[in-house]
Amino acid sequence: MEDSIFYKFAKGEMKPGNIRYEDDDLLAFDDIHPAAPVHILIVPKKPIQSVADMVEEDAAIVGKMVYRAKLLAEELGIDHPGYRVSFNVREGGGQLVPYLHLHLMGGPKPWRDI
Ligand code: 5GP
Repeated sequence: MEDSIFYKFAKGEMKPGNIRYEDDDLLAFDDIHPAAPVHILIVPKKPIQSVADMVEEDAAIVGKMVYRAKLLAEELGIDHPGYRVSFNVREGGGQLVPYLHLHLMGGPKPWRDI
């Protein structure tokens, strides 16, 4: 996880491309291979590998990630008819990047599966 490119993005060591939002706790940026017209990834600055690796104190930061997805969806006008927020968890859940990230997807269909 500490070697993950998403951790390098979170620490500011590398640029992820188009940044949509940043604060002390979170970074949101466009997915490099978008599966929907809007496909944004939201990551915590604190390194957490996956939902399955959260500890109780991580609940607040994950709540902030979800709330930021809601705000970005509104800003980008994809909140109607609706959008998807999802976490893939470990290999069996389709998680390819071993650093916690929330997918925000929206816009006109069709979308690719993630
Ligand atoms: P996962 O399958 O782990 O839930 O999703 C990983 C996502 O990260 C994929 O949608 C993939 O396109 C995206 N991704 C992988 N590497 C990079 C990268 O270097 N930059 C950006 N912006 N997205 C990436």
